[in-house]
Amino acid sequence: MIKNIRSFKKDLKYTIMSTISRRIFNKKLSQAMAGTTLLAGMPLACGMDSNKPVEKLGVALVGLGSYSKGQLAPGLLNATDCYLAGIVTGTAAKEKQWMQEYAIPKENVYNYENFDEIATNDAIDIVYVVLPNSMHADFCIRAAKAGKHVICEKPMAVSVLECDAIIEACTEAGVKLSVGYRMQSDPYTQEIKRLVREKSDGDVYYVSSDAAYLSLGNPDQWRLNKKLSGGGALLNMGVYAIQSSIYGTGMNPISVSAQEFSTRPEYFKDTDETITAQMQFPSGAVGNLFTSHNANANRLLVSFEHGWVELNPCHSYAALAGRTSDGKEIKFPPQSQQMQQMDDFAKHIKTGSVNMAPGEMGKRDMIICEAIYQSIKEGGKTIPLDLGSMGIVS
Ligand code: NAD
Repeated sequence: MIKNIRSFKKDLKYTIMSTISRRIFNKKLSQAMAGTTLLAGMPLACGMDSNKPVEKLGVALVGLGSYSKGQLAPGLLNATDCYLAGIVTGTAAKEKQWMQEYAIPKENVYNYENFDEIATNDAIDIVYVVLPNSMHADFCIRAAKAGKHVICEKPMAVSVLECDAIIEACTEAGVKLSVGYRMQSDPYTQEIKRLVREKSDGDVYYVSSDAAYLSLGNPDQWRLNKKLSGGGALLNMGVYAIQSSIYGTGMNPISVSAQEFSTRPEYFKDTDETITAQMQFPSGAVGNLFTSHNANANRLLVSFEHGWVELNPCHSYAALAGRTSDGKEIKFPPQSQQMQQMDDFAKHIKTGSVNMAPGEMGKRDMIICEAIYQSIKEGGKTIPLDLGSMGIVS
């Protein structure tokens, strides 16, 4: 039995540090901590790397497009458990600008070709893949093989098979995996989950979720190119509506049927424009989902036996708003969802706290997306789903 935790931590830290590198130590420690809270609170940085902020994990963003630039990098500036340590870009011109703006040293800058060399870089603990959807699997698997923890943007990949390959690679490498479902760390989501769980207005009978925007930009963008995106509105926005339908009921659907609508085929040449889907849940609750690249919609309605709760907007980055049928406003102070999401994942690595958006959640959503596409192909046929509690984080 361990009598003195503090001296045990100290002994363990220095015994291990004297024999293996800090990177391997961190990895072993996080693996050990996944199953125990014994060492919670122990500093990870241990003062070995003077350039690394103490206790913060280093994140490398892969793909420096609009989401990395506009949300993730700014979010990391204010994070408490991680920071922007490195970048991976295919555009050499971006390197200097990012290095200056975020004080990133040259040795932490990679391109798509030399990316695998990141394995020997102790400053990088987490690789965050923010590339077009069809590139997620390749880079997540390479990141896992390099021994790095992985955050994969949504949708997790372009097929269930690819999701399996990412999960397998992370399991084999003993690294943690999370999907960029920022809403899972948002207090509005937590509030809906609480209302559903506590049942103060009774069971959920109906859930309705819309996630859509009107796409009028460049028709050659990757999101409208199936080879790069894997699908249209459903994979881009529909996954948010799947997410909120599930946390809005606390259950996975047991069946889905779906319809596709097309009004601008000259613009949406390659990908789905608008999809509606109906879901059945094990309790008997039903769900209605709307996703589109040809309309603006951003809402969740959860209807209980005795009342309802609505978030509108629901799926945005910020300024969410909610209200209930008895006239209560749901309001939380504004904060960066991305900062919260990345801090939650860093805490999960460091202390074994809950992984708010594990790989199984991303895979489950892809199973539902594939069932929706299958239903459309088969004229709206009801497709049964056997998901159990896969990916449910309470
Ligand atoms: P973007 O088009 O702004 O950036 C894409 C990046 O990938 C660019 O840096 C581009 O240079 C690079 N790239 C590499 N190969 C490419 C290729 N063959 N074609 C096009 N770009 C290529 O896209 P984004 O909005 O930053 O989205 C990136 C990922 O992040 C997507 O998976 C998207 O679904 C996800 N995303 C998630 C959220 C969220 O709320 N979680 C929000 C926006 C985007």
